[in-house]
Amino acid sequence: KAVGPVEDCVFCKIIKGELPARVVYEDEDIIAFLDINPAAPGHTLVVPKKHYKNILDAPDEVVSKVFLVAKKIGKAAIEALDAKGVNVITNAEPVAGQIVMHFHVHVIPRFKEDELKF
Ligand code: 5GP
Ligand code: ZN
Repeated sequence: KAVGPVEDCVFCKIIKGELPARVVYEDEDIIAFLDINPAAPGHTLVVPKKHYKNILDAPDEVVSKVFLVAKKIGKAAIEALDAKGVNVITNAEPVAGQIVMHFHVHVIPRFKEDELKF
């Protein structure tokens, strides 16, 4: 199901360098950049460079890598931003709130108990 860069996919465009992003982590398979509309300071999206629609579509190795990077970023947010915790979330399909149809995991630093729901 892996496909090359998908036309009109914003995350494929960011990966190709056709759209700007605040990249916070990158390796051979994964890129992570700040969310354009953050739910909290440091809200980061962890994205595989190959296009898969969502977690349900992505191979287990890709899911593992994405979540391991999400864990690293969560820990870094706690150290660098003095966050007190983190939400690690992925939405699959529009009914579950998925808007960008390229698999991604949200890492949302949390600073205090508040009304923020995701
Ligand atoms: P979803 O609801 O699909 O899980 O979340 C998509 C996320 O991508 C949203 O939080 C939205 O703010 C973010 N987003 C959408 N377009 C862009 C973009 O062009 N650049 C960045 N950095 N984030 C984006
Ligand atoms: Zn894509």
